[in-house]
Amino acid sequence: MWTLVLNSGSSSLKFALLNPATGELRLSGLAERLGAGEASIRLERDGQRETRALNGGSYGEALGEVLKELDALNMRHEVRAVGHRVVHGGESFSAPVQVTPDVLEGVRACVPLAPLHNPANILGIEAAQQAFPGLPHVAVFDTAFHQTMPEVAYRYAVPEEWYKQHGVRRYGFHGTSHQYVAGQAAELLGRPLQELNLVTAHLGNGSSVCAVAGGRSVDTSMGLTPLEGLVMGTRSGDLDPGIPDYLARQAGLSLTEITAALNKKSGLLGLSNLTNDMRELETAAADGHAGARLALDVFVYRLAKYIAGMTAALGRLDAVVFTGGIGENSALVRAEVLNRLGVLGLKLDSDANGNLPRGKAGVISQAGGPAALVIPTNEELSIARETARLVEG
Ligand code: AMP
Repeated sequence: MWTLVLNSGSSSLKFALLNPATGELRLSGLAERLGAGEASIRLERDGQRETRALNGGSYGEALGEVLKELDALNMRHEVRAVGHRVVHGGESFSAPVQVTPDVLEGVRACVPLAPLHNPANILGIEAAQQAFPGLPHVAVFDTAFHQTMPEVAYRYAVPEEWYKQHGVRRYGFHGTSHQYVAGQAAELLGRPLQELNLVTAHLGNGSSVCAVAGGRSVDTSMGLTPLEGLVMGTRSGDLDPGIPDYLARQAGLSLTEITAALNKKSGLLGLSNLTNDMRELETAAADGHAGARLALDVFVYRLAKYIAGMTAALGRLDAVVFTGGIGENSALVRAEVLNRLGVLGLKLDSDANGNLPRGKAGVISQAGGPAALVIPTNEELSIARETARLVEG
């Protein structure tokens, strides 16, 4: 069966038409600047790329173009289900669900937890229900995989009523990616996932690590929001919770301004005062840019600390998995992280690490300790598979 996967952001709509059984991709693309004027849609099929202007620029119009493409491919009637990425499912959703009015209400109830993302996800689902009225729509949550975390991992040490009344706890994100690469790691190692203790590191513009025991998330670095944990492109990750109050008093900044800076001006960008892009940082660091070197060092140090910390949740470590734009492509970051983790028995295979072809999975560790793996993530395929699994029962 063919599945259409949709990921709606506040001004964008990403789409992919996939066969979940084979992974075959027939159509993909991205509509951008929706609702902001000069909206456009980029389509890719059979290796051909095309960008068109979108009149109006609503989710509905973007989906109208997708429908036209499906007709041109003679595929409209081959689509059996639509899978939607939904960012926050709170404690209500621990697995993918078929969208019903009650489910939409549940996603709406999680809007305070993800005020930028969930409203866009809801609008995308509603537009898709109109464009594809006869099909089952499935919501796949970024948080759901982490609902297996034990209370000891998800509770913050704050007044109990903050948790009970306001849901202040750790939820975690990137769930479809962590789940997908954990499954692929088991295949690569030729061992059952149920027997494996893994730390998966999704390193992109947003980054998180996850402790995966027997295929279940038992801890992760992101929290109530995607701001907690690792150093990211423009997000700070962990910091002293006393900092916002201090800055409000010392610099006269509002909470809104501080939060915006922690999300958009911090991380690699803040440290380097140059860029949030790891590729550019590597080049600049090699050219002697001190800020770029510092950004790389703090990124690597925090990541190594987190991977080591996650082993406390696992007891035994079988493998570390690198994925995401940085994890899949930066041999430098992988090498520097693994060189800090000799204490866990991890031993880098420099040749394998340096020569891994782009887009390929592989083992980058020497024998005799936990494995280190690179595995390209595929969130669209993961969502398509979850959707198909639910629809086909
Ligand atoms: P993502 O959000 O998963 O698309 O990842 C984006 C990040 O991956 C950016 O920081 C990119 O600079 C980084 N990235 C992509 N390709 C490379 C590469 N060849 N070397 C280092 N970093 C890369």
